Amino acid sequence: MSNSYPWLDIERQSLNQALDEQRLGHAPLFLGSPGVGKRVLAEWLVRRIMCLEPFEGEPCGECHACSLMAGGAHPDLFRLELLEDKNEILVDQVRDFIASLSLTPSVGNRRVGMIVPADRLNRNAANALLKTLEEPSGEVWLALVTDNEDRLPVTVTSRCQRRYVAVPDPATAMAWLSERHADRDRRDCELALELADGAPLLADAWLSGAGLEIGLAIRDGLGAVLNGRADETALIAQWQETPAESWRWLARFSQLWLHGVLASPPAVLAEAPIPAAGQGAERVLEECWKQALEGGRLAGRPVRQDWLLQSWLSEWRKLAAGG
Ligand SMILES: [Zn+2]
Repeated sequence: MSNSYPWLDIERQSLNQALDEQRLGHAPLFLGSPGVGKRVLAEWLVRRIMCLEPFEGEPCGECHACSLMAGGAHPDLFRLELLEDKNEILVDQVRDFIASLSLTPSVGNRRVGMIVPADRLNRNAANALLKTLEEPSGEVWLALVTDNEDRLPVTVTSRCQRRYVAVPDPATAMAWLSERHADRDRRDCELALELADGAPLLADAWLSGAGLEIGLAIRDGLGAVLNGRADETALIAQWQETPAESWRWLARFSQLWLHGVLASPPAVLAEAPIPAAGQGAERVLEECWKQALEGGRLAGRPVRQDWLLQSWLSEWRKLAAGG
């Protein structure tokens, strides 16, 4: 891992040292923006904890524990995740998880539980976990990962050790991205990184699939609405195909357009129409941002997405009227 994600090196070394000096808390909570590498770091820590013969601060990759981890079948690692078709981690899952963690380890003398995404523990599930977080037995660790610390109850966060994973400096992120996507224009990498707010793994995912192109298509659609040249029915139909993703883009573009109004247009909006400041555009964009977040929250629920998107678009259209 040492060179795969260079911006995680410092945090990795710090975890390693804490573990060696037996002062790594039993419940590290990995925090930070989506796509910054929290989960990668947590998975690395789990391999490091489980490895029977770590070498120079890294899991050796060769011992029995490392082979089991590589095969995804280490019997002393337990994962608490969302069940398919569920929006929350449920209390029964937590009970099973706690029971598993109390079994005698079968490989080394350590057991680890991973909770991802930790912010999806519902209230009962979080409560059921408190005692385990409070009084972990000897060689047991819990690693929690969240994009959204605010959604975790304080009763949980106060029992964890916060490990904030920061967005790397743009030069580091760009060097990493352009090496991975040598087939892409450097410009594409820059736009993806800007849209991802500097989070390299998010930009990477978009560049690996059609994500960047989908984002840019949504940008162009929004620009066309402002220029009065959009086929709005077609836009809604398109956005509705993947509502959760569309809402994320609409929220992100509301932010970027607001940045354009208040300061200067970001590179990704260099050719987009930007409303003038001081004519209410700021308020409309803030409202659009809030509505998009709310839309995203409702995306998995039985709600008419086309209505929500219509209503969002009529708010967005006010920018054209004002400009
Ligand atoms: Zn090993």
